[in-house]
Amino acid sequence: MFVVMVSPECAPVAKVGGLGDVVHGLSRELAIRGVTVELILPMYDCMKYDRIFDLQKSYSDLRVPFHDEWIHCDIYSGVVDELKCFFVKPNSTERFFERGRFYGESDDAERFAFFSRAVLEFMLKSGKHPDVIHCHDWQAGLVPVLLYEIYERQGMDKSRVCYTLHNVGHQGVTGEHILRQVGLDPVAVMTPQKLLDPTHANAINLMKGGIVYANFVTTVSPRYSEEIRHTELGEGLQDTLNLHADKVGGVLNGIDYNVWNPETDTQISANYSSTALSGKVGDKKALRQRLMINDVFKPIVAVVSRLDRQKGADLIRHAAFYSLANHAQFVLLGSAAEEELNAAFWGLKHYLNDNPDCHFEIGYDEELSHQIYAGADMLVIPSVYEPCGLTQMIAMRYGTVPVVRNTGGLADTVFDANYSDVPFEQRNGFVFSELTTEGLESALSRGIGLWHRYPEYFRQLRTNGMNQDLSWNNPGRDYLNIYEHIWT
Ligand code: ADP
Repeated sequence: MFVVMVSPECAPVAKVGGLGDVVHGLSRELAIRGVTVELILPMYDCMKYDRIFDLQKSYSDLRVPFHDEWIHCDIYSGVVDELKCFFVKPNSTERFFERGRFYGESDDAERFAFFSRAVLEFMLKSGKHPDVIHCHDWQAGLVPVLLYEIYERQGMDKSRVCYTLHNVGHQGVTGEHILRQVGLDPVAVMTPQKLLDPTHANAINLMKGGIVYANFVTTVSPRYSEEIRHTELGEGLQDTLNLHADKVGGVLNGIDYNVWNPETDTQISANYSSTALSGKVGDKKALRQRLMINDVFKPIVAVVSRLDRQKGADLIRHAAFYSLANHAQFVLLGSAAEEELNAAFWGLKHYLNDNPDCHFEIGYDEELSHQIYAGADMLVIPSVYEPCGLTQMIAMRYGTVPVVRNTGGLADTVFDANYSDVPFEQRNGFVFSELTTEGLESALSRGIGLWHRYPEYFRQLRTNGMNQDLSWNNPGRDYLNIYEHIWT
């Protein structure tokens, strides 16, 4: 089977969050299972070029129709972690992917609409006929629309589309001019059944287009697929998702066991496993040394996160104060795209600067994230919503006990030490429901209390988490089944 991933991110070269990890991890798993996998990404100027091998121009002067002109593109190819990747580089005055960052530009909708059109034009002209085109998030939502409205008639009639929603909080809602730019007829597609946005008058919704036109739609956890169909977490897409319910399903993400493995991780000071945990003590010591916090008899409560409202920024702040007041240390690694939140967390960092039990690292640091997962005792994730969440899974892999809100993928993967109805050996963390400080405290207090009073039981939670299969093994098989289902 031949699968092409169309994505705005792929770790480690272009990663903003979990999407990058997922596209990379799933592609690797599929390749191991014998699938021929290729990826197509924009050629951002801010990619990690040192992680791309054998980068070379592989297709010159691809002419992509856009608005009333042709934009000339070069397509580069390279190998990222044994995965064959193609990069779309438009040569135009807009410099779509030369902005020094991946997203957050005022013309994001235009940039990724162009990318979608260029991807299909490249496949057509280079004679690439994948069995399945697997598209990710709103940035690739136009791919199935363009395939079935334009490219099917030009001979691309064999490919089927799987479309994955990583976060319905970002849908690509934009003006109808985008349709004309990519060559779609607004009269034909700007309808309530197709791309018309359900909430904003006269706007189109690129994610909705992907849902309507794709052959199968997945969310990144089963719980999130229920939540977006039946609650306001669907952000206006509930009716569309329910109308297409027979082709919508949730597949829980995995994590890459080659990247996240405490037994072999070279970025941590001591390796360990669920049957030989002593290395984790050394990692805790090393983390304290690196972050210059006290070496005392207390648990380390940690956060590794984008800092935004989705991630429960207010409760993250509360977790810091609560931990410090309740015989625990607190460590945060996070970055905020929003100016106001960035300033708020810098203010907090300065305020707590002299506290010897606390460290805030504001920024993005892959190596430190490994050291925190290994050295911490608990990881707090108080998300407002969480399509899947990888950090709780990574934490469990490293024997760090998650303290999470009961939503989305967090609810699918974390089972409360005291209140879950799963068997004891599957309980692996602490869960709370209410999005309030009291809610958070109800779980965090139990975690800190257990660490101090019942270390054996706490240790059991660690090993329960470590013994689960959180790899890409199960989701890889599920995706393969979906591909086969839509392809045959
Ligand atoms: P999201 O995709 O919503 O940001 P996920 O939990 O799905 O959240 O994935 C987050 C990924 O990004 C994880 O691999 C996590 O380790 C990583 N990450 C988040 N913030 C940072 C940071 N400040 N530094 C390093 N890695 C980070």
